[in-house]
Amino acid sequence: MEHHDAAQPLSPRTRVVALGRPERVPGAPLNPPVTFTSTYIQDGPVNYARVDNPTWTPFEEAVGELEGGDALLYSSGMAAVQAALSLVPVGGTVVAPAAAYNGVVVTLTEAQRDGRLAVRWVDVTDSAATIAALPGADLLWLESPSNPLLEVADIAGLTAAAHAAGALVVVDNTFATPLLQRPLEDGVDVVVHSATKYLSGHSDVILGLTVTPGTDAGRKLHARLTRHRTLGGSIAGPMEAWLALRGLRTLSLRLERACANAADLAERLATHPRISRVRYPGWGAIVSVEVAGDGDDAAAAEALAAGTRIWSPSTSLGGVESQLERRRRQPGEPEAVPVGLVRLSVGVEDVDDLWADLQQALDRI
Ligand SMILES: *Cc1c(COP(=O)(O)O)cnc(C)c1O
Repeated sequence: MEHHDAAQPLSPRTRVVALGRPERVPGAPLNPPVTFTSTYIQDGPVNYARVDNPTWTPFEEAVGELEGGDALLYSSGMAAVQAALSLVPVGGTVVAPAAAYNGVVVTLTEAQRDGRLAVRWVDVTDSAATIAALPGADLLWLESPSNPLLEVADIAGLTAAAHAAGALVVVDNTFATPLLQRPLEDGVDVVVHSATKYLSGHSDVILGLTVTPGTDAGRKLHARLTRHRTLGGSIAGPMEAWLALRGLRTLSLRLERACANAADLAERLATHPRISRVRYPGWGAIVSVEVAGDGDDAAAAEALAAGTRIWSPSTSLGGVESQLERRRRQPGEPEAVPVGLVRLSVGVEDVDDLWADLQQALDRI
């Protein structure tokens, strides 16, 4: 019989299953309990449940270990985004992608309009232009692959340049998950997640996370983010935290199937006459397509989304269920996103069923 070599690091496929379990002692439950409480008996380590809840801890520990840092759980991905942006001083400057997640673009646009922050919008696929925008900046915001254009940034190169310019770097790692990309290994200061998406994976919770490195500087950021969460009150409900940890158990299985489906569909979609462009970085489980509609691409894209039976026409992504949406129907979606672009969040269903459904909807446009 072979013995497990304790020195050999466990595969992430094992770690998503094994992390965040109660201590293995006789009689202990296999899964952590859900702690519904608003307060605690005094003189313990925590005295109020806006500060901490033992149901958050296993999920935070699991995602923290997968990303290689210390995680904090929030009530939503946007709450994590706001926490990360709170690291920029009032009047500071943010370098950000012109086509990022629309909640980020709207937040930064309004902060600039209200005089709280200056924003330099860049094309993050153009490293030279992004680096040229860095002098004097406080923060570089990256999302890679980006939502919904699937643009890929050189995270390591841009992080080194940002640090040389004295700026912090935040990477929204929602699309890749720590199984496909670990930005902290590239020197990034804060990773942000919408745990609503792949990490929990069943379209049944809204949650977010920040993850900071275990360095001295990282621990200082973690302390500031913790304080922001406690005082801002953007905390997760214990039931949601528990569901997210349960969802995380299958992250590797779900991603393997969804990524294989996405690669297959990206190829098949490119052959359809109604598809003028397929955006797919070659990995991950999101594929964005541009639909050609005889002069009205937006209407054609709406017809695709409305004409499917298995794919659900709904905003959001990263669940086991395949979803699709014409992104420009969302108010605040950046104009860099073509009007006929449909984002496909590829789920774990049978790929031939998924393709047949898309094909019949495309054929009927
Ligand atoms: C959904 C999403 C968010 C926002 O997360 P919520 O959980 O909806 O608040 C942030 N970034 C990206 C890339 C997203 O897809």
